[in-house]
Amino acid sequence: MTATGISACNDRPAFSFEVYPPKSVAAASALTRTIDHLAAAGPEFISVTYGANGSSRTSSLDVLRYIKDHTTADAMAHLTCVGSSHAEASRLIREFLDAGIRSFLAIRGDAPQGAAEGDTTFLGDLHSAGELVQLIHRVQAERVPYIETVIPGLPAARGLKTERSRVRIGVAAFPNGHPNSRSVAQDIDTLLAKQAAGANLAITQLFFHADDYLSFIQKARSAGVLFPILPGIMPVTSPNRLRRILQLSGEKLPAALSIALEVEPTEEGQRQIGIDYAVRLGQDVLAGGAPGLHLYAFNQHETVLSVLEGCGALPVPATMP
Ligand code: FAD
Repeated sequence: MTATGISACNDRPAFSFEVYPPKSVAAASALTRTIDHLAAAGPEFISVTYGANGSSRTSSLDVLRYIKDHTTADAMAHLTCVGSSHAEASRLIREFLDAGIRSFLAIRGDAPQGAAEGDTTFLGDLHSAGELVQLIHRVQAERVPYIETVIPGLPAARGLKTERSRVRIGVAAFPNGHPNSRSVAQDIDTLLAKQAAGANLAITQLFFHADDYLSFIQKARSAGVLFPILPGIMPVTSPNRLRRILQLSGEKLPAALSIALEVEPTEEGQRQIGIDYAVRLGQDVLAGGAPGLHLYAFNQHETVLSVLEGCGALPVPATMP
Protein backbone atom coordinates (compact mmCIF):
# COMPACT_ATOMS: atom_id res chain seq x y z
CA MET A 1 0.00 0.00 0.00
CA THR A 2 1.20 3.54 -0.70
CA ALA A 3 0.87 6.41 1.78
CA THR A 4 -1.57 8.19 -0.43
CA GLY A 5 -3.60 5.59 -2.05
CA ILE A 6 -4.11 2.36 -3.58
CA SER A 7 -2.08 -0.55 -4.85
CA ALA A 8 -3.27 -3.60 -6.73
CA CYS A 9 -2.14 -7.02 -5.56
CA ASN A 10 -0.92 -9.68 -8.04
CA ASP A 11 -2.75 -7.93 -10.89
CA ARG A 12 -5.98 -8.10 -8.93
CA PRO A 13 -7.69 -4.73 -8.44
CA ALA A 14 -7.36 -3.06 -5.05
CA PHE A 15 -10.54 -2.54 -3.05
CA SER A 16 -11.88 -1.04 0.15
CA PHE A 17 -15.14 -1.00 2.11
CA GLU A 18 -17.38 1.44 3.97
CA VAL A 19 -19.34 0.42 7.07
CA TYR A 20 -21.40 2.48 9.51
CA PRO A 21 -21.45 2.43 13.34
CA PRO A 22 -23.96 -0.02 14.81
CA LYS A 23 -27.16 1.24 16.43
CA SER A 24 -27.65 -1.57 18.99
CA VAL A 25 -25.62 -4.09 20.99
CA ALA A 26 -26.82 -6.93 18.73
CA ALA A 27 -25.84 -4.95 15.63
CA ALA A 28 -22.42 -4.27 17.17
CA SER A 29 -21.62 -7.93 17.61
CA ALA A 30 -22.92 -8.72 14.08
CA LEU A 31 -20.69 -5.94 12.73
CA THR A 32 -17.53 -7.38 14.26
CA ARG A 33 -18.23 -10.68 12.43
CA THR A 34 -18.85 -8.75 9.21
CA ILE A 35 -15.60 -6.82 9.64
CA ASP A 36 -13.70 -10.08 10.21
CA HIS A 37 -15.01 -11.37 6.86
CA LEU A 38 -14.35 -8.09 5.03
CA ALA A 39 -10.84 -7.80 6.46
CA ALA A 40 -10.01 -11.41 5.55
CA ALA A 41 -10.55 -10.48 1.88
CA GLY A 42 -7.55 -8.10 2.08
CA PRO A 43 -8.95 -4.57 1.60
CA GLU A 44 -6.70 -1.49 1.44
CA PHE A 45 -8.85 0.04 4.17
CA ILE A 46 -12.24 -0.14 5.84
CA SER A 47 -13.85 3.26 6.38
CA VAL A 48 -16.36 4.01 9.14
CA THR A 49 -18.98 6.73 8.65
CA TYR A 50 -19.60 9.54 11.12
CA GLY A 51 -23.13 10.51 12.19
CA ALA A 52 -24.62 13.97 11.88
CA ASN A 53 -23.68 16.27 14.79
CA GLY A 54 -21.08 13.81 16.03
CA SER A 55 -23.91 11.51 17.15
CA SER A 56 -21.76 8.46 16.45
CA ARG A 57 -18.41 9.71 17.80
CA THR A 58 -17.98 6.95 20.40
CA SER A 59 -19.41 4.13 18.31
CA SER A 60 -17.40 5.19 15.22
CA LEU A 61 -14.24 5.15 17.31
CA ASP A 62 -15.13 1.75 18.82
CA VAL A 63 -15.52 0.27 15.32
CA LEU A 64 -12.26 1.89 14.15
CA ARG A 65 -10.45 0.48 17.21
CA TYR A 66 -11.85 -2.97 16.45
CA ILE A 67 -10.56 -2.80 12.86
CA LYS A 68 -7.18 -1.56 14.05
CA ASP A 69 -6.71 -4.04 16.88
CA HIS A 70 -8.26 -7.19 15.39
CA THR A 71 -7.54 -7.04 11.65
CA THR A 72 -4.73 -6.12 9.28
CA ALA A 73 -6.92 -3.64 7.36
CA ASP A 74 -6.21 0.08 7.69
CA ALA A 75 -9.02 1.84 9.61
CA MET A 76 -10.26 5.04 7.94
CA ALA A 77 -12.30 7.49 10.03
CA HIS A 78 -14.92 9.72 8.40
CA LEU A 79 -15.03 13.12 10.11
CA THR A 80 -17.40 16.01 9.39
CA CYS A 81 -17.45 19.79 9.93
CA VAL A 82 -20.90 19.69 11.52
CA GLY A 83 -21.45 21.60 14.74
CA SER A 84 -17.82 21.96 15.88
CA SER A 85 -15.77 24.98 16.86
CA HIS A 86 -12.11 24.92 15.76
CA ALA A 87 -11.10 23.83 19.27
CA GLU A 88 -13.66 21.01 19.39
CA ALA A 89 -12.74 19.75 15.92
CA SER A 90 -9.03 19.82 16.85
CA ARG A 91 -9.76 17.87 20.05
CA LEU A 92 -11.72 15.29 18.08
CA ILE A 93 -8.97 14.86 15.48
CA ARG A 94 -6.39 14.50 18.25
CA GLU A 95 -8.54 11.85 19.94
CA PHE A 96 -8.66 9.82 16.70
CA LEU A 97 -4.91 10.26 16.12
CA ASP A 98 -4.21 9.20 19.72
CA ALA A 99 -6.25 6.04 19.03
CA GLY A 100 -3.77 5.27 16.23
CA ILE A 101 -5.97 6.28 13.30
CA ARG A 102 -3.89 7.56 10.36
CA SER A 103 -6.49 7.56 7.56
CA PHE A 104 -9.39 10.00 7.38
CA LEU A 105 -12.22 10.87 5.04
CA ALA A 106 -12.80 14.60 5.57
CA ILE A 107 -16.33 15.62 4.64
CA ARG A 108 -18.47 18.65 5.27
CA GLY A 109 -21.62 16.84 6.44
CA ASP A 110 -25.21 17.69 5.59
CA ALA A 111 -27.69 20.19 6.98
CA PRO A 112 -30.32 18.70 9.29
CA GLN A 113 -33.67 17.90 7.68
CA GLY A 114 -35.88 20.97 7.41
CA ALA A 115 -32.98 23.46 7.34
CA ALA A 116 -33.55 26.41 5.00
CA GLU A 117 -31.59 26.40 1.73
CA GLY A 118 -28.28 28.19 2.15
CA ASP A 119 -28.43 27.94 5.96
CA THR A 120 -24.90 27.03 7.10
CA THR A 121 -25.38 27.57 10.83
CA PHE A 122 -25.28 23.79 11.33
CA LEU A 123 -21.60 23.74 10.35
CA GLY A 124 -19.75 25.44 13.20
CA ASP A 125 -16.36 27.09 12.55
CA LEU A 126 -15.37 24.90 9.59
CA HIS A 127 -17.35 25.53 6.42
CA SER A 128 -16.00 23.03 3.93
CA ALA A 129 -14.23 19.71 3.68
CA GLY A 130 -11.10 21.54 2.48
CA GLU A 131 -10.87 23.43 5.79
CA LEU A 132 -11.20 20.14 7.67
CA VAL A 133 -8.40 18.59 5.56
CA GLN A 134 -6.14 21.51 6.53
CA LEU A 135 -7.04 21.17 10.19
CA ILE A 136 -6.25 17.42 10.24
CA HIS A 137 -2.81 18.14 8.74
CA ARG A 138 -2.24 20.95 11.25
CA VAL A 139 -3.21 18.86 14.29
CA GLN A 140 -1.05 15.96 13.07
CA ALA A 141 1.90 18.33 12.51
CA GLU A 142 1.55 19.87 15.99
CA ARG A 143 1.25 16.44 17.55
CA VAL A 144 4.33 14.98 15.83
CA PRO A 145 6.64 17.95 15.21
CA TYR A 146 9.63 15.74 14.47
CA ILE A 147 10.81 12.14 14.60
CA GLU A 148 13.93 11.05 16.53
CA THR A 149 16.27 8.75 14.62
CA VAL A 150 19.22 6.67 15.80
CA ILE A 151 22.56 7.87 14.35
CA PRO A 152 24.54 4.89 13.01
CA GLY A 153 27.65 4.25 15.14
CA LEU A 154 26.42 6.52 17.97
CA PRO A 155 23.81 4.43 19.80
CA ALA A 156 23.27 7.02 22.55
CA ALA A 157 22.80 9.92 20.15
CA ARG A 158 19.57 10.91 18.47
CA GLY A 159 19.05 12.85 15.27
CA LEU A 160 15.97 14.89 14.45
CA LYS A 161 14.08 14.18 11.25
CA THR A 162 11.65 16.84 10.21
CA GLU A 163 9.80 14.46 7.89
CA ARG A 164 6.51 13.73 9.65
CA SER A 165 4.55 10.53 9.53
CA ARG A 166 1.99 11.09 6.82
CA VAL A 167 -1.73 10.80 7.21
CA ARG A 168 -3.97 9.65 4.40
CA ILE A 169 -6.78 12.15 3.93
CA GLY A 170 -9.54 11.27 1.53
CA VAL A 171 -12.38 13.53 0.43
CA ALA A 172 -15.73 13.10 -1.30
CA ALA A 173 -16.18 13.50 -5.06
CA PHE A 174 -19.46 13.66 -6.98
CA PRO A 175 -19.38 12.30 -10.57
CA ASN A 176 -22.95 13.52 -11.14
CA GLY A 177 -22.53 16.73 -9.17
CA HIS A 178 -23.12 17.59 -5.54
CA PRO A 179 -26.84 18.37 -5.05
CA ASN A 180 -25.95 21.98 -4.03
CA SER A 181 -23.48 22.48 -6.84
CA ARG A 182 -24.39 24.83 -9.70
CA SER A 183 -22.23 23.12 -12.35
CA VAL A 184 -19.71 20.36 -13.05
CA ALA A 185 -17.06 23.10 -13.07
CA GLN A 186 -17.93 23.94 -9.45
CA ASP A 187 -17.57 20.27 -8.47
CA ILE A 188 -14.15 20.10 -10.12
CA ASP A 189 -13.10 23.41 -8.51
CA THR A 190 -14.15 22.04 -5.13
CA LEU A 191 -12.03 18.95 -5.72
CA LEU A 192 -9.05 21.11 -6.71
CA ALA A 193 -9.54 23.14 -3.52
CA LYS A 194 -9.48 19.93 -1.50
CA GLN A 195 -6.27 18.88 -3.29
CA ALA A 196 -4.69 22.26 -2.52
CA ALA A 197 -5.70 21.78 1.13
CA GLY A 198 -3.68 18.55 1.25
CA ALA A 199 -6.12 15.73 0.41
CA ASN A 200 -4.44 12.75 -1.22
CA LEU A 201 -7.37 10.53 -2.19
CA ALA A 202 -11.03 10.90 -3.17
CA ILE A 203 -13.94 8.49 -2.95
CA THR A 204 -16.97 9.08 -5.12
CA GLN A 205 -20.61 9.21 -4.29
CA LEU A 206 -22.41 6.16 -5.70
CA PHE A 207 -23.32 6.26 -9.38
CA PHE A 208 -25.02 3.81 -11.73
CA HIS A 209 -23.29 4.24 -15.11
CA ALA A 210 -19.57 3.75 -15.75
CA ASP A 211 -19.52 6.77 -18.08
CA ASP A 212 -20.62 9.05 -15.23
CA TYR A 213 -17.42 8.14 -13.38
CA LEU A 214 -15.10 7.93 -16.38
CA SER A 215 -16.08 11.28 -17.90
CA PHE A 216 -15.81 12.94 -14.46
CA ILE A 217 -12.28 11.54 -14.08
CA GLN A 218 -11.35 12.89 -17.49
CA LYS A 219 -12.56 16.39 -16.54
CA ALA A 220 -10.86 16.22 -13.13
CA ARG A 221 -7.53 15.16 -14.68
CA SER A 222 -7.70 17.88 -17.34
CA ALA A 223 -8.29 20.42 -14.58
CA GLY A 224 -5.22 19.21 -12.66
CA VAL A 225 -6.62 16.82 -10.03
CA LEU A 226 -3.79 14.36 -9.43
CA PHE A 227 -4.81 12.07 -6.57
CA PRO A 228 -6.50 8.67 -7.03
CA ILE A 229 -10.31 8.91 -7.25
CA LEU A 230 -11.88 5.67 -6.09
CA PRO A 231 -15.27 4.81 -7.57
CA GLY A 232 -17.87 4.22 -4.83
CA ILE A 233 -19.92 1.16 -5.83
CA MET A 234 -23.17 0.31 -4.06
CA PRO A 235 -24.82 -3.01 -4.89
CA VAL A 236 -28.57 -2.28 -4.75
CA THR A 237 -30.44 -5.47 -3.95
CA SER A 238 -34.11 -4.44 -3.59
CA PRO A 239 -36.52 -1.89 -5.07
CA ASN A 240 -37.06 -0.35 -1.61
CA ARG A 241 -33.37 0.17 -1.08
CA LEU A 242 -33.06 1.75 -4.54
CA ARG A 243 -35.86 4.24 -3.72
CA ARG A 244 -34.24 5.12 -0.39
CA ILE A 245 -30.79 5.57 -1.95
CA LEU A 246 -32.09 7.84 -4.69
CA GLN A 247 -33.87 9.94 -2.06
CA LEU A 248 -30.71 10.31 0.04
CA SER A 249 -28.21 10.84 -2.77
CA GLY A 250 -30.28 12.80 -5.29
CA GLU A 251 -28.97 10.49 -8.06
CA LYS A 252 -31.17 9.94 -11.14
CA LEU A 253 -33.20 6.73 -11.37
CA PRO A 254 -31.22 3.98 -13.22
CA ALA A 255 -34.14 2.76 -15.36
CA ALA A 256 -32.82 -0.68 -16.36
CA LEU A 257 -31.85 -1.63 -12.80
CA SER A 258 -35.09 -0.26 -11.41
CA ILE A 259 -37.28 -2.24 -13.84
CA ALA A 260 -35.26 -5.44 -13.34
CA LEU A 261 -35.65 -5.19 -9.54
CA GLU A 262 -39.38 -4.34 -9.76
CA VAL A 263 -40.30 -7.28 -12.01
CA GLU A 264 -38.24 -9.89 -10.12
CA PRO A 265 -40.57 -11.55 -7.55
CA THR A 266 -38.02 -13.21 -5.22
CA GLU A 267 -35.62 -11.59 -2.78
CA GLU A 268 -32.81 -13.93 -3.83
CA GLY A 269 -33.41 -13.02 -7.47
CA GLN A 270 -33.34 -9.29 -6.65
CA ARG A 271 -30.13 -9.74 -4.72
CA GLN A 272 -28.52 -11.46 -7.71
CA ILE A 273 -29.69 -8.64 -10.03
CA GLY A 274 -28.04 -6.08 -7.71
CA ILE A 275 -24.81 -8.07 -7.57
CA ASP A 276 -24.68 -8.59 -11.36
CA TYR A 277 -25.31 -4.87 -11.97
CA ALA A 278 -22.54 -3.87 -9.55
CA VAL A 279 -20.14 -6.44 -11.07
CA ARG A 280 -20.69 -4.99 -14.57
CA LEU A 281 -20.23 -1.46 -13.22
CA GLY A 282 -17.04 -2.47 -11.39
CA GLN A 283 -15.62 -4.26 -14.42
CA ASP A 284 -16.38 -1.27 -16.68
CA VAL A 285 -14.76 1.35 -14.43
CA LEU A 286 -11.72 -0.87 -13.90
CA ALA A 287 -11.43 -1.37 -17.66
CA GLY A 288 -11.59 2.44 -17.97
CA GLY A 289 -8.64 2.86 -15.58
CA ALA A 290 -10.17 3.14 -12.08
CA PRO A 291 -7.46 2.66 -9.41
CA GLY A 292 -9.62 0.21 -7.43
CA LEU A 293 -13.15 -0.22 -6.10
CA HIS A 294 -14.70 1.18 -2.93
CA LEU A 295 -17.71 -0.89 -1.88
CA TYR A 296 -20.55 0.44 0.27
CA ALA A 297 -21.08 -2.69 2.39
CA PHE A 298 -24.25 -1.81 4.37
CA ASN A 299 -22.67 -3.72 7.29
CA GLN A 300 -22.98 -7.04 5.44
CA HIS A 301 -20.19 -8.95 3.81
CA GLU A 302 -21.79 -11.54 1.49
CA THR A 303 -23.06 -9.16 -1.20
CA VAL A 304 -19.94 -7.00 -1.54
CA LEU A 305 -17.65 -10.02 -1.51
CA SER A 306 -19.74 -11.56 -4.33
CA VAL A 307 -19.30 -8.31 -6.29
CA LEU A 308 -15.54 -8.37 -5.78
CA GLU A 309 -15.39 -12.02 -6.78
CA GLY A 310 -17.27 -11.18 -10.00
CA CYS A 311 -14.77 -8.37 -10.68
CA GLY A 312 -11.82 -10.73 -10.23
CA ALA A 313 -10.57 -8.85 -7.17
CA LEU A 314 -10.48 -11.83 -4.81
CA PRO A 315 -7.87 -14.60 -4.95
CA VAL A 316 -9.15 -17.75 -6.66
CA PRO A 317 -9.51 -20.44 -3.97
CA ALA A 318 -6.90 -23.19 -4.31
CA THR A 319 -8.38 -26.31 -5.92
CA MET A 320 -7.67 -29.80 -4.63
CA PRO A 321 -5.29 -31.84 -6.81
P1 FAD B 1 -17.61 20.19 0.43
O1 FAD B 1 -16.51 19.67 -0.39
O2 FAD B 1 -17.25 21.11 1.52
O3 FAD B 1 -18.65 20.81 -0.58
C1 FAD B 1 -20.02 21.00 -0.29
C2 FAD B 1 -20.63 22.03 -1.23
O4 FAD B 1 -20.05 23.27 -0.96
C3 FAD B 1 -20.41 21.77 -2.72
O5 FAD B 1 -21.51 22.24 -3.44
C4 FAD B 1 -19.23 22.58 -3.04
O6 FAD B 1 -19.18 22.92 -4.41
C5 FAD B 1 -19.43 23.77 -2.13
N1 FAD B 1 -18.16 24.34 -1.72
C6 FAD B 1 -17.12 23.69 -1.14
N2 FAD B 1 -16.09 24.54 -0.89
C7 FAD B 1 -16.53 25.75 -1.31
C8 FAD B 1 -15.97 27.04 -1.31
N3 FAD B 1 -14.73 27.24 -0.83
N4 FAD B 1 -16.71 28.05 -1.79
C9 FAD B 1 -17.94 27.84 -2.29
N5 FAD B 1 -18.54 26.65 -2.32
C10 FAD B 1 -17.84 25.63 -1.85
N6 FAD B 1 -21.89 12.64 5.56
C11 FAD B 1 -21.87 12.42 6.90
O7 FAD B 1 -22.54 13.14 7.65
N7 FAD B 1 -21.12 11.41 7.44
C12 FAD B 1 -20.35 10.58 6.68
O8 FAD B 1 -19.67 9.69 7.20
C13 FAD B 1 -20.35 10.77 5.24
N8 FAD B 1 -19.59 10.03 4.43
C14 FAD B 1 -19.57 10.27 3.06
C15 FAD B 1 -18.73 9.47 2.25
C16 FAD B 1 -18.68 9.70 0.87
C17 FAD B 1 -17.77 8.85 0.00
C18 FAD B 1 -19.48 10.73 0.29
C19 FAD B 1 -19.45 10.96 -1.19
C20 FAD B 1 -20.31 11.51 1.09
C21 FAD B 1 -20.36 11.29 2.50
N9 FAD B 1 -21.17 12.07 3.34
C22 FAD B 1 -21.17 11.84 4.71
C23 FAD B 1 -22.08 13.10 2.79
C24 FAD B 1 -21.44 14.50 2.76
O9 FAD B 1 -21.31 15.01 4.07
C25 FAD B 1 -22.38 15.41 1.96
O10 FAD B 1 -22.43 14.99 0.62
C26 FAD B 1 -22.10 16.90 2.05
O11 FAD B 1 -23.24 17.61 1.56
C27 FAD B 1 -20.93 17.38 1.19
O12 FAD B 1 -19.76 17.02 1.73
P2 FAD B 1 -18.36 17.45 1.00
O13 FAD B 1 -17.30 16.93 1.86
O14 FAD B 1 -18.38 17.05 -0.42
O15 FAD B 1 -18.48 19.04 1.10
